[in-house]
Amino acid sequence: MMERIDHIGIAVKDLEATLKFYEETLGFKVGEKMDHGTSRGAFVTIGEVDFELLENKDRSSAIARHIEKRGEGFQHIAFQVKNIAEAIEELKKKGIRFIDEKPRPGARGSRIAFIHPQNTYGVLMELVER
Ligand code: ZN
Repeated sequence: MMERIDHIGIAVKDLEATLKFYEETLGFKVGEKMDHGTSRGAFVTIGEVDFELLENKDRSSAIARHIEKRGEGFQHIAFQVKNIAEAIEELKKKGIRFIDEKPRPGARGSRIAFIHPQNTYGVLMELVER
């Protein structure tokens, strides 16, 4: 069902400063930037791994709540699936609860759904269909 890691989500307080660090200090390539309304972000890539840097624009965003509770840093891991609707159904049959009951539009033209972290031993997981 899960094919590979799609990206790793990082909550940041200052997107510009963080981008500068990943690009200039670490040598990552900067990819697509996006605006989710309550948060904004950018992808940075090293080898085959993408990091999704996310900064909150609004106190109600999941990123703002994450930074308030746990500070900056690792926020979620995203797995690529072939068919997200099938993956959701398969996991629901196994008793897994979702934050997103149905796939919703994600970055880079994808469809995404977040699994409820109560089911995943503390790791916030996202499914991505490209
Ligand atoms: Zn993500």
